[in-house]
Amino acid sequence: MDRASFLKKLEAETGPALRAAGFTGGLESGGNAAAFEYRFDEPMSGHTTFRVGGPADLWIRPRREGFPVLAGLVLRRAGEEGIPLFILGSGANLVVSDRGIRGIVLDTGGWTGLLDGEGGPSSLWIRAGTPADQAAELAADRSLSGLEFLAGMPGSIGGALWMNARCYGRSVSDALGETEFLVLPGLDQGREPGTGWGEIRRAPVKEGEFGYKKSPFQAMDALILAACFTLSLGSPERIRAKMEALRRDREERGQYRFPSAGSAFKNHRALGAPTGKIVDQMGLLGFAIGGAQVAPWHGNFIINRGNATAGDIRALVEELSRRIRAERGFAPEPEILFVGEWQAKMVRGIE
Ligand SMILES: Cc1cc2nc3c(=O)[nH]c(=O)nc-3n(C[C@H](O)[C@H](O)[C@H](O)COP(=O)(O)OP(=O)(O)OC[C@H]3O[C@@H](n4cnc5c(N)ncnc54)[C@H](O)[C@@H]3O)c2cc1C
Repeated sequence: MDRASFLKKLEAETGPALRAAGFTGGLESGGNAAAFEYRFDEPMSGHTTFRVGGPADLWIRPRREGFPVLAGLVLRRAGEEGIPLFILGSGANLVVSDRGIRGIVLDTGGWTGLLDGEGGPSSLWIRAGTPADQAAELAADRSLSGLEFLAGMPGSIGGALWMNARCYGRSVSDALGETEFLVLPGLDQGREPGTGWGEIRRAPVKEGEFGYKKSPFQAMDALILAACFTLSLGSPERIRAKMEALRRDREERGQYRFPSAGSAFKNHRALGAPTGKIVDQMGLLGFAIGGAQVAPWHGNFIINRGNATAGDIRALVEELSRRIRAERGFAPEPEILFVGEWQAKMVRGIE
């Protein structure tokens, strides 16, 4: 990829696209470069909660104003030039390889807060880059109950939707009414003439399309832009008390003690017990490969003791899979996602 030429073309397209979308000032005054933050060979260890990961060829974070237009331009240009592209939320569920990511990483972290002028008295449209904890705060500020379960959970709303994150008995889809997303140009059959950078679609949540850690976005090439949550009016004191209790609970469970990406494996009925429990029963608490270790206090948490490589983490996940399969006849599916350029093929069960 010729990164300089990619950026040059992108910058040339930015002004006209923003003007066409109705942005008349601000962003362009500092030059089109002001619309994007970007870096070459950006270490992904600074963008993942595991604190591992080699360089991304080109990391781009469109700034807040005009995000859908700017992100759309990046997606279209990457598509046209055949450059691979990865969409980054908060990196709270990722193991990026030590070799890093070839192509572009599109960071959604600049697209936060509420969607302007949208939502009703008991619904909130929240932008995809908003941290999940902040989304719970935005609801609490309006005395709206229903997002308390996200308090203290690392990750963005976009990532939480993509993963259909689940905690304290609730999945993100339980509170979800509608989603807004950008269909990537090229795959976009029904593009409005003249928009050029892709089509923004809204879709109500349909029965059965979300499941346990499953969302329709996992089978789509789309950039999630926002989520509309259907909430109910509640007592601000009670909402905040619940949020505080959940944050404390995570703290007491040691979730923030070391870098991690939360639960390493999904739970499976076939195993008859939560995966963490099985790891515990097999005497594997504290089991380590290099700097990656099964948390001594939780069998489904893999932690970075400080000097772990992505390779260590992957080797540990593969070894746990292998041992569980050998003992229980079934390997659990990893919940954490392996991203970037890996050397070897992954073992069965985590392909
Ligand atoms: C301490 C700790 C505790 C955790 N506890 C829980 C828990 O209780 N329950 C739980 O479910 N998870 C938990 N996690 C995992 C993590 O928080 C969630 O999976 C979270 O939803 C990931 O969001 P993210 O923004 O970091 O996504 P990322 O890790 O950045 O990305 C995850 C996937 O989503 C895609 N994606 C992200 N944003 C977009 C977008 N805007 N459009 C399209 N695709 C997108 C990415 O391409 C990637 O495929 C925990 C993690 C940590 C570190």
